[in-house]
Amino acid sequence: MTNQKNKKIIRLLIANRGEIAVRIMQSAQKIGIHCIALYSDADAHSMHVKQANEAWYIGASPAKESYLVVEKVLQVAKEARADAIHPGYGFLSENAGFAKAVQDAGIIWVGPPVKAIEAMGSKSESKSLMEKAQVPLVPGYHGDNQDEAFLAEQVKQIGFPVLIKASAGGGGKGMRVVETESEINAAITASKREGLNSFGDDKLLVEKYITRPRHVEIQVFMDQHGNGVYLFERDCSIQRRHQKVVEEAPAPKFDNATRQAMGEAALQAARAINYEGAGTVEFLYDPTQADSPFYFMEMNTRLQVEHPVTEMITGQDLVVWQLKVAQGEPLPLSQNDLRINGHSMEVRIYAEDPDNEFLPTTGTLDHVQLPELIANRVRLDTGVQQGDEVSPYYDPMISKLIVWGEDRAQCVSTLKHALQAYQIAGVTTNLSFLRRVINIDAFQQGDVSTRFIEEFNDQLMTQQDVKQHHLIAGICHHMLSRKSAGQSRSDFAQSPWHNLNGFRLNQAARESLRFENKHGDQWPVTVDTLSLNQWNIQLDEITHSVQARMVNDQIQYQMDNQWHSARVIVHGRRIWVYDHQGESEFQFASQDYAQQDEQQGNLTAPMNGTIIQVDVTPGDQVKTGDVLMIMEAMKMEHAIKAPTDGIVKEISFNLGDLVAEGAILLELEETSEA
Ligand code: ADP
Repeated sequence: MTNQKNKKIIRLLIANRGEIAVRIMQSAQKIGIHCIALYSDADAHSMHVKQANEAWYIGASPAKESYLVVEKVLQVAKEARADAIHPGYGFLSENAGFAKAVQDAGIIWVGPPVKAIEAMGSKSESKSLMEKAQVPLVPGYHGDNQDEAFLAEQVKQIGFPVLIKASAGGGGKGMRVVETESEINAAITASKREGLNSFGDDKLLVEKYITRPRHVEIQVFMDQHGNGVYLFERDCSIQRRHQKVVEEAPAPKFDNATRQAMGEAALQAARAINYEGAGTVEFLYDPTQADSPFYFMEMNTRLQVEHPVTEMITGQDLVVWQLKVAQGEPLPLSQNDLRINGHSMEVRIYAEDPDNEFLPTTGTLDHVQLPELIANRVRLDTGVQQGDEVSPYYDPMISKLIVWGEDRAQCVSTLKHALQAYQIAGVTTNLSFLRRVINIDAFQQGDVSTRFIEEFNDQLMTQQDVKQHHLIAGICHHMLSRKSAGQSRSDFAQSPWHNLNGFRLNQAARESLRFENKHGDQWPVTVDTLSLNQWNIQLDEITHSVQARMVNDQIQYQMDNQWHSARVIVHGRRIWVYDHQGESEFQFASQDYAQQDEQQGNLTAPMNGTIIQVDVTPGDQVKTGDVLMIMEAMKMEHAIKAPTDGIVKEISFNLGDLVAEGAILLELEETSEA
């Protein structure tokens, strides 16, 4: 059974989550389609659930117990009377079995025919097909003979360097570059193992490793009537570990003749498998060769993460196109109607730590400040907002920032400003890494290749220095916002900048603090308090005379007779400082923080958890050691006890609330001096 033609989609189920689910709904709702979302436990309060017209629970947080369970998705589709399913990207989008089951159930599949998905599912088979369709291929072997000695012989014949790939691979997994004969056997064994472990298939292919290629891909679209167009190219050369980081359209330094040749080759590939809907044909492009050859790499039979840059330069909505094609309508435009207008770039913002091998990070988005979004110029696709959790269950992508400019230079400049204005605290992200990438001269000149990040490693990986004045801003914020010495509360309350939480302890006029960066480099600091908002701060053997005040959420501080303004966000012992010059992330040295926390009587949450008991109400008189509330975290209970005699002023959370590590749980006013 194939897709039914000319059947209107009224109720669309989106078999996905997060950013892509939100993205699809925006377009579908715009054309009057009712959207049905799915959610797992972890996603119960997610943005995609809120934006849907209705949302159905699908199971536990791990994707393989929810979003990836074909039977469950189909069950919901039937119960919710969905007449179409859009799979988004990732998850089940390239699962031929799912596509077939959807259509067998009489539901419209917003995607290509099952046979096309199958044909492109294996890198080896797709290469054989493309060979027949006379699409140019990287020289190599992609046949069925998987004998290791035979494969090793093929490697030698191709000539070094050679790339060994798991045929079923994806996401850069199962690939190995071989430079010398002695490496061949180990590489074959390793790729086989990785293919088997990650994709359940140890079939390999070998091909010439192009040393400094560009990744250029073509967006194709075909309808159910055999019409096909290409919506030009995207350059996705800036990659780390073979995964895309920055994408742009059109490709820089790319001539019209190549554009047309590549576009036609891509359409030829799509026609060869009777394609329908949105697809991307990926090529390796080698501008270092005299005739600038390009080679077919693979075809992705779905919408791509980076599709927005194509939308920006063509003025088209590709999700609307997908829905129209799935309903049996002809393509909205013909090749001659399509034009490239201006230049667009996308950067992927990930919860990951570039200083720690790009390992995914998790946590709460305590603070998110978006760049100014401007229609058709600065766009942000995301599935999360301030306060949301980045969980370990799904892809760590937080958002995609997409910009448009009249030309590439303007586009880069817009991207620079937007990235500079984008602030995220609570979770370590790749934002500063991205800022460094786009600041590199070669990038600005359009000299990109898939080796870019490797080639500029020294510049990109310079561990970000904590800026000295950011440290000062953090210290001022700390001095202003924490409990202060010997003054009565009313003295503070009169002060316009005061921001008191918790209770107060006697403090010496001079105190020592220690801050450190993620790598453990420490800065000892001495602070002499001169008045409520004036200090002498000694840092790196220089004493700065500093005063500060809070104005809304900004800290304004005068240091060595100059005023600065910054945003300081504190999460537990971690501190983020943002100003117009950039950001710094540092933290209280662990020993000091533990001590401080103790002094504060654990009125801050010791870790992320849930309030399971509240024993006091504002106005209550409590004695040292009284239990004030109980938190549950990691299945353990933690009693929050009064560190001193006092009166409960304010309780910040209610029973059942989730709280983040470091959040102030309640305010206590001391009634006897500590
Ligand atoms: P995956 O499906 O895992 O993403 P691809 O085949 O699409 O794998 O390749 C991913 C990336 O690996 C490409 O964008 C390119 O940077 C690099 N690559 C793949 N094949 C070659 C090759 N023959 N020579 C050089 N680089 C390659």
